Amino acid sequence: MNYDGDIIRPPSEADSIILQVTVGCSHNQCTFCGAYKDKKKKFRIRSEEEIDENIAFAARYCSRQHKVFLADGDALILSQQRLVALFGKIRRQLPRVRRISLYGNAKAIRSKSLEQLQELKRLGLNRIYMGLESGDDTILSRVRKGETAASMIDAACRVRNAKIFLSATVLLGLAGIEGSRQHAQATGQTLSAMAPNQIAALTLMPLAGTELGDQVANGTFHLPDAVGMLQELKEMVEHIHCDTVNSEGVSWKTQFMANHASNYLPITGRLGRDKESILAMIQQAITGEILLTPERSRAL
Ligand code: SF4
Repeated sequence: MNYDGDIIRPPSEADSIILQVTVGCSHNQCTFCGAYKDKKKKFRIRSEEEIDENIAFAARYCSRQHKVFLADGDALILSQQRLVALFGKIRRQLPRVRRISLYGNAKAIRSKSLEQLQELKRLGLNRIYMGLESGDDTILSRVRKGETAASMIDAACRVRNAKIFLSATVLLGLAGIEGSRQHAQATGQTLSAMAPNQIAALTLMPLAGTELGDQVANGTFHLPDAVGMLQELKEMVEHIHCDTVNSEGVSWKTQFMANHASNYLPITGRLGRDKESILAMIQQAITGEILLTPERSRAL
């Protein structure tokens, strides 16, 4: 497979065919994000020839895989016409593929109508990973996410109305020590309004070369310690109320995952069913009854 630069994908796409249709992220301004800061990763949509070559490669060497993940940052920014043509090629040339997923930022999601999202769903788009990061407008503005809580909720509702699985990612520590409580509460409330199928909580690890990394290094941003991160997580979970109902009218429980390698305490569960046990587990970690992931073992 021919990739331009390093490829970033969600942990749950480890066994997917990774098809790079864009290079970098069209926004690329978030102060905490080092994913596409490499100057060589100037955003571009790959040419049809490049993508076709890679589909042909996958058809030859990855024909047993059932999932495709479209990289990089926001493949949903492709025009509807190009996405429809791309999904058609995937269906024809990779007939075993049952699920197509991608990162979709809120702006790219809002650029599609409900009918367009429904069309993509019919053609195989099964899952959108969306970075909420924080549900607090002040924090979103400070980290230059380019969105507000309301615009994120709008995007999330579109995805849910199109019956596409929505995974929302939030970032613990993003408001520093000072804004931790506000970040936790507002993010819990915004997640409740978004009602994603899955919530993934990651813990901020400041990266050299990013604006936020520089702020941590020069002492103008104070990152919560491990216990502070857990207190933030607990407060956030307490404010999430998003059990919902699927297309068949059956109620189901939002998956909650804080098992990313950046986290101090790996957690997975379903919020409606497991919320109290999740909160109890976090409390035990805060009081030292459960050991935390050592600093040296944490990673992005
Ligand atoms: S966090 Fe997402 S939207 Fe922001 S710069 Fe990174 S990839 Fe782009």
